[in-house]
Amino acid sequence: MSRIYNFSAGPSMLPLEVLEQAAAEMTNYNGSGMSVMEMSHRSPVYDAIIKQTEEDFRALMNIPDNYKVLFLQGGASTQFAAVPLNLMKTGKADYVVSGQFSGKAFKEAKKYGDAKCIATSEDKTFSYIPEITPDMVRPDCDYVHVCYNNTIFGTKFPDVPNVGDKVLVADMSSCITSEPVDVTKFGVIYAGAQKNMAPAGLTVVIIREDLMGNAREDIPTMLDYKTMADNDSMYNTPPCYAIYVAGLVYKWALKNGGLTAMKERNEKKANLLYDYLDSSKLFKPTAEKRYRSMMNVCFVTGDADLDKKFCKEAAAAGFENLKGHRSVGGMRASIYNAMPYEGVEKLVEFMKKFEAENA
Ligand SMILES: *Cc1c(COP(=O)(O)O)cnc(C)c1O
Repeated sequence: MSRIYNFSAGPSMLPLEVLEQAAAEMTNYNGSGMSVMEMSHRSPVYDAIIKQTEEDFRALMNIPDNYKVLFLQGGASTQFAAVPLNLMKTGKADYVVSGQFSGKAFKEAKKYGDAKCIATSEDKTFSYIPEITPDMVRPDCDYVHVCYNNTIFGTKFPDVPNVGDKVLVADMSSCITSEPVDVTKFGVIYAGAQKNMAPAGLTVVIIREDLMGNAREDIPTMLDYKTMADNDSMYNTPPCYAIYVAGLVYKWALKNGGLTAMKERNEKKANLLYDYLDSSKLFKPTAEKRYRSMMNVCFVTGDADLDKKFCKEAAAAGFENLKGHRSVGGMRASIYNAMPYEGVEKLVEFMKKFEAENA
């Protein structure tokens, strides 16, 4: 069977070229006589893999030298606890709740200190991003946490929020490497890799060096950024294979023009879909225009049964995983870096046909 168009929010599509290379190297990596899955993480051959992966990631994201890159486990959800445990010094942190994951991050931080929600878009089912101004931020808070792209509701910060001189922490799980970002505007960026970079099991953290070393005494060793940085992400066994695939994905992105080119491709794909949604009489996009995500496009017909029928017929036609998150219903097309333009083109064709048949 040929490959389908997979619109899954995560784990999600990887570039076919990357999968083919991983397959070709599966049983014997680079003459080592072993799979990357089978080799010691302390071996010279694996050491070269993780170092090259970091180098390529730094090049791709233009990460300055005073930032560390950590390859961790536990998913973005573990970072919801790691961030307050590492960064709360005064015990105060401000949170923007613009969706489900940022809500979870806020809830987790409250366990460890005085976390305050300074803005939310819950009043309109998270269909927009609240405006943030420096005067909203508590002067003595340690950091401000945002979720940069809301995977479930399909919204994204239109710009880096202005938090004055405060440390900005961003969950970028579903938008990392989708476009250039100015890393220097952030203290910490973290992301589960399974949306736009790799298979599940890897979590990437980018942290400004001066923010490490302030963790509370009772922090679990595995969550301490300083421990992980001092040990080059090898305090324990890292997610070796996922790091290797991430490395292949970074090489693929670099070869295809880096993040400027990724942004162009992603905009082109998202515009095609949103333009159709804006003109459709059947489908309605759910996110406010200014805050639309390029990665996760959410839409509804307004009729739950019709939504269901659409997802079923789409799957039968080779467009899989278009069902919205179980908490919100409707539809969601996740169109990360690896989704080709042609996939979105074909989806729009299919939607037009469905609209004509169900008018
Ligand atoms: C998927 C996702 C998470 C949860 O990631 P896990 O790796 O499953 O813990 C958190 N934040 C955002 C923005 C996500 O998209």
